[in-house]
Amino acid sequence: MSKSYHIWTLGCQMNVSDSQRLASELEKMGLSAAEDPEQADVLVVNTCVVRQSAEDKGMGRIYSLRPIKEKYPDKVVGVMGCMVGVRDPLPLRKKLPFVDVFMSPSEPLPMVDFLRSKGDEYEALAAEAESRAMRDAIQDEDALVLPSHERGNLITAHVPVVYGCSHACTFCIIPFRRGVERSRSVGEIVAEVRSLARQGVREVTLLGQIVDRYGKDIPDGPDLGDLLRIVHDEGVKEGIQRIRFLTSHPNWMTDKILDTVAELPHLMPQIEVPAQAGDDEVLRRMKRGYTQEQYRQLIERIRARVPDVAIHTDIIVGFPGETEPQFEQTLTMLKDLKLDKVHLAKYSPRPQTVSARTMPDDVSDEEKERRFREIDRAQAEINAEINARRLGTQTPVLVEELQGGKWRGRTPQNKIVFFEDASRDRRGEVVDVEIIWTGPWSMQGRLPGSGDQPKPNEIIQLSAL
Ligand code: SF4
Repeated sequence: MSKSYHIWTLGCQMNVSDSQRLASELEKMGLSAAEDPEQADVLVVNTCVVRQSAEDKGMGRIYSLRPIKEKYPDKVVGVMGCMVGVRDPLPLRKKLPFVDVFMSPSEPLPMVDFLRSKGDEYEALAAEAESRAMRDAIQDEDALVLPSHERGNLITAHVPVVYGCSHACTFCIIPFRRGVERSRSVGEIVAEVRSLARQGVREVTLLGQIVDRYGKDIPDGPDLGDLLRIVHDEGVKEGIQRIRFLTSHPNWMTDKILDTVAELPHLMPQIEVPAQAGDDEVLRRMKRGYTQEQYRQLIERIRARVPDVAIHTDIIVGFPGETEPQFEQTLTMLKDLKLDKVHLAKYSPRPQTVSARTMPDDVSDEEKERRFREIDRAQAEINAEINARRLGTQTPVLVEELQGGKWRGRTPQNKIVFFEDASRDRRGEVVDVEIIWTGPWSMQGRLPGSGDQPKPNEIIQLSAL
């Protein structure tokens, strides 16, 4: 007897990792990932509410499961994530009576309990799986069991180290839906990294809403610098090649963290530190806790301590009351700092947040769109300029997959590179690649010495990816 599951995942890396956690629990119970989602016995939507559009998409997907549940009442429907949040889901339960299980973010166990309570079928499956797990030596309780189609194929994975957030940025719904910050134990994190490495993962990204506050809620606990060193040393023993971490907050980025990144060879020189805006008045009303000048000084400090570092940021355009001159402050700051990547978002009022309750959403959608496009255009030029500096140089690329007949991988700075090589399966390998073409969003390479390729930046443009 077999049972299968399918999880639709919306939103951020933390949600991707939460879905992986749920999949792992279901795999441990003997279920397998369904080839055809609609054929699955267990159907789950992992939701995001960071913007209204994401919430609407999630609700649409959930309602699309109602006719399936009505036709096959034995199927199990679950909703997980930030739409459920950390509070009693009763209002949602009333709205979605056809849903069997509601799971808070990062909490898969209500589904396990529900399936176990559904009687012999799942109990027998779980018992059989447990005996198989014993046989396959998946002894480690904390082991994260990847779905069978990912084992040996998944090269990169996310590992949460801090759940929730204890800051109160006025636009942000996360603290209301994911709760206060809670650091996971070092042992749990290392066990997960080891089990991922044994299943073929070669790069892990440590996750937190404010990852550089890791350990702050543990009395005399380790900080992120300590954790990075331990994960580095233990992970590399199991075959991990690369370690990244995100998302940091400007106020908690210490020299110790930066020096650890600069010192340890398998820690990648990439820092994700959102600015959100470049105007002090806007930053004050966002309750971000720093000024533009302090953010500029942080970028300088990061570049001084970590050689060849890539810096990524987040920016919100159209925050309530943002005037044109205030927007210009943000644009000028980005043009000056020339960061490697800007995750851009238009302000979207979220329920319960201070900004939604107290500040009118007075920047029009057209104006938000105009500001979004202006930054996007400027950043594309900056990306092209930064990537062009790599032309003719060699860089180590961790290969993740084959795409359009080319190997696709990323540099230590998290830049996407494509190259051709039919000699063998390169997935999971770190390959030295010579860069022969660059664009704002990706680069083309070739294996050093394979000189029969076209001249840089010429022919490739015709087929630029
Ligand atoms: S730091 Fe601010 S923006 Fe980030 S998750 Fe916490 S409240 Fe939200």
